[in-house]
Amino acid sequence: MNLIDGKAISAKCKGEIADEIKSLTAEGRRAPCLAVILVGNDPASQVYVRNKKRACEAVGITSLEYLLDENESEEKLLELIDFLNKDNNVDGILVQMPVPKQIDPDKVIEAISADKDVDAFHAYNVGKLFTGAPRFQPCTPAGVMRLLKEYNVEIKGKHCVVVGRSNIVGKPMGALLLAEDGTVTTCHSRTKNLAEITKQADILVAACGRAKMITADMVKDGAVLVDVGINRVGDKLLGDIDFDACAEKASLITPVPGGVGPMTIAILMQNTLTSYKMRFNLQ
Ligand code: NDP
Repeated sequence: MNLIDGKAISAKCKGEIADEIKSLTAEGRRAPCLAVILVGNDPASQVYVRNKKRACEAVGITSLEYLLDENESEEKLLELIDFLNKDNNVDGILVQMPVPKQIDPDKVIEAISADKDVDAFHAYNVGKLFTGAPRFQPCTPAGVMRLLKEYNVEIKGKHCVVVGRSNIVGKPMGALLLAEDGTVTTCHSRTKNLAEITKQADILVAACGRAKMITADMVKDGAVLVDVGINRVGDKLLGDIDFDACAEKASLITPVPGGVGPMTIAILMQNTLTSYKMRFNLQ
């Protein structure tokens, strides 16, 4: 079977993290701690926050949850972030995106201390990533890299095509593939002749947020297909890749759900542990 099993690899990563936390806390230190802030009642965000809390519990990370009202002011949120920035018992701070319209997401991202920015969204950490010395890994793209590694996919010299150029997925994805010596092409909504480019991909990462946009005629035989997309269509979750048709051509393919999604959370746990180790000078 050519399926990349994100659930299994995520479980393996979390197992490794749990073991490391167990041995570090056995020496008498406190457990790592992640503070998660949710503003408002967006159902998808509530699910993401719940999943992060569960993952924390599973690996031995203390999770603090702050549920703020939909109408909470930007000022109050920034005050809370400032309080958590100063708390030495907190290693990671995450504000679940999107935030309601009265709050500027860019201000929120820059307000989180770069040392506790476990999403790796802060400009300092983005800069570190692009200069080749990342401290925190961008969660979703790093999750993709781990999947490729686990399945022994060679990146060096391969044509890697990323469809999507967002700050959270497309751009950092390209940076990580480039760092592994891939030849990277980034596509977006203004790209002309998209299919011509995707057809050249040895490794194709779809992160455009358009259900089933990548069709079988857009992929090369034997390509590795990674689907980051999560699109709610009716009661279904669909990826950006037309899975059934493309699976027949791919050498490896990630499903949705059960592919990239579970990896994002595993890397978040990893980043929280990294931050904790930085705080205790353990690396
Ligand atoms: P954004 O909406 O921020 O970015 C989408 C990107 O796709 C943009 O760069 C856009 O181009 C490009 N795009 C849109 N339409 C087309 C098109 N027709 N042809 C080519 N490119 C196109 O989304 P995100 O990057 O945040 O997320 C992408 C997908 O991944 C979403 O489905 C999201 O739900 C999912 N996701 C999944 C995660 C996981 O854990 N599995 C985590 C994060 C996101 P342009 O810049 O020109 O507008």
